[in-house]
Amino acid sequence: MRPTVVFSGATLGALSLLTVAAHAQSARRASDRLRRRARYERTLDATTDRRGAPLSLPRAAQPVPLSEAPATRTNAARPYDHVVLLSIDGLRPDAIALSDAPNLERLSQRGLSATEARTITLSYTLPSHASMLAGVDAPTHGLVHNDFTPRHGFSRAPTALYFAHDAGLATAMFVSKPKFRHLAIPGSVDVFERPSYQCPAVARRAASYIANVGAGLTFVHLSEPDSAGHDRGWMTVAYLRAIAAADVCLGALLTAIEARRDRDRFLLIVTSDHGGHGRTHGSTREVDRRIPWIAWGSAVRPGPHTEPVSVMDSAATALAALGLPLPPELEGRPVRAALSRATSGARAAP
Ligand SMILES: [Zn+2]
Repeated sequence: MRPTVVFSGATLGALSLLTVAAHAQSARRASDRLRRRARYERTLDATTDRRGAPLSLPRAAQPVPLSEAPATRTNAARPYDHVVLLSIDGLRPDAIALSDAPNLERLSQRGLSATEARTITLSYTLPSHASMLAGVDAPTHGLVHNDFTPRHGFSRAPTALYFAHDAGLATAMFVSKPKFRHLAIPGSVDVFERPSYQCPAVARRAASYIANVGAGLTFVHLSEPDSAGHDRGWMTVAYLRAIAAADVCLGALLTAIEARRDRDRFLLIVTSDHGGHGRTHGSTREVDRRIPWIAWGSAVRPGPHTEPVSVMDSAATALAALGLPLPPELEGRPVRAALSRATSGARAAP
């Protein structure tokens, strides 16, 4: 037989105290949850500090002097002799103005700067870079994974480097992550180097190559903003500092180009593979898909470029800049405003 439970008045009082304590605990948990959520929301788009002031850094770095107005010495058949395609991993376009990045800022103010540039929907490093270099979307190049996995082989779509090499031009890749081996299709690059994960070594090697190279296509990849984004969050002070560091490395490439007598025959494209939010990327959200796309060269029509640009257009623009035919399977299109200034004063190459 079960005993009949009888609560005394004292027990009932203790029980109601317990109920009150339980309510207080669950309220505390709920408010902790809200606080955590608010903290997370701040990291999602942390363009302001805790007091609401815009995040930015004191100006310290000096920009590399750019030739004031590069002489237009284009040739309809080959607008440029050399294209340097620089990808700054995980660089959000809206972070440039908040960072101490004088080179990026001046290139975007004085060169062509696309305001509507986006990466592919699969906004991860390897798929996006494959699209940048091959000019096709992920289902076509087939690199839908995101780390160095030898059994996945090379991009199924030929890269712009492949076509340039095939045409007898010099090609090189200076990268900071091993996964780029998937894009170095055999016979497509004369030089493939991964000097370091850190950009100073990558930029130093690339700059010394650029100083003496002939006509061709050079791809350079810097990691810094992406790794700070994953470690500390996109748009945090650490992320903005990483952009400043990448900007110094960009300066080394600019110095190498500007030191050349034929600098007006160089086209520099600066872009990225994806943006990011919180400590991640890879979604179809605008913060992940928006990228910078900046072009600097003698035939570039300077100013904001408001037409949509895809990361896939980088390959097409590089090929067109070198006067190479565009393979029909390319999904990207050349950004023509980077190839023909289309104003009076343009003169043909001597
Ligand atoms: Zn990336």
